[in-house]
Amino acid sequence: MKKGYTIGIDLGGTNTKLALVDDKGRIVTRRLISTGEYPAKEAFIEAISGCVKEILAARGIKAVRGIGIGTPGLVDSRKGIVYSLTNIPGWDRVFLKKLLERSTRLPVFVDNDVNLMALGELKFGAGIGVKNLICLTLGTGVGGGIIIDGRLYRGTTLSAGEIGHISINENGPRCNCGGRGCLERYVGNRYIVALATRKIRRGKKTIVTKLVNNDLSRITPFVLSTAARRGDELAISIWQEMGKHLGVALSGVVNLLNPEVIVIGGGVANAGKVLFDALRKTVRERAMEIPVKAVKIVRGKLGQDAGIIGAVALVKLKT
Ligand SMILES: [Zn+2]
Repeated sequence: MKKGYTIGIDLGGTNTKLALVDDKGRIVTRRLISTGEYPAKEAFIEAISGCVKEILAARGIKAVRGIGIGTPGLVDSRKGIVYSLTNIPGWDRVFLKKLLERSTRLPVFVDNDVNLMALGELKFGAGIGVKNLICLTLGTGVGGGIIIDGRLYRGTTLSAGEIGHISINENGPRCNCGGRGCLERYVGNRYIVALATRKIRRGKKTIVTKLVNNDLSRITPFVLSTAARRGDELAISIWQEMGKHLGVALSGVVNLLNPEVIVIGGGVANAGKVLFDALRKTVRERAMEIPVKAVKIVRGKLGQDAGIIGAVALVKLKT
């Protein structure tokens, strides 16, 4: 085991973040690669490799524990094979671990990005010292990572954690996954925006229209968070509704898994108190008495860096 530094990589559809991280989980150096600039995966892997070498050379570092890399989509974490990448075409059955090890000569560990966020929060964030933790990320999609007895739970086919596809309405709208009334169909970014747009078109008074210069196509969850913080009733009611939807799904999660902490991360968590109040209230009202008393629902501590820090936590576990 090499003490000292680790490279953490968060591979995203738009940008890929790389960082050199010390043993306490502090980021020493960071770099950004535009994922879209490399449609060929070979060139992309070479770009990552070049960037790693450049970071190490700039710091005069000769040895690191290894490279941890989180990717969206389906990953075989044991073999380091990426089967598909959400929003990035052309990545089917990529032997990412093998290819990156060959070009960097460093040990490489690959896992799903939400699993890694859960691991990052467990080791360096909101879940330090906790054994049973659920991590939820809210954005375009709704992802989940499950830690049981201090270890990631991956499931039989490595597909556990799809909290976004728990149904909260048996007769609800069809979802891409084939289900109906999935949580993601209500609290995914574009559905939040669609709900706000519908309410505004129906004539609800709101400062949102002013915030987007009357161009409703510019509404984002961020705009709605800003409006809610300024006391806008429409925006507040939307976040309360989102909190309730999340609370319904999470009540089931609390009853099923009896976690100590549920960490909520991702952009939508920025809605803050109004969302969290509604969410906690719903869980308190619906989940069973004993498990609900034990659970804390908190915001993630690692923010935008959760993926990178989680990738580093993975390497530390494996080396
Ligand atoms: Zn679904």
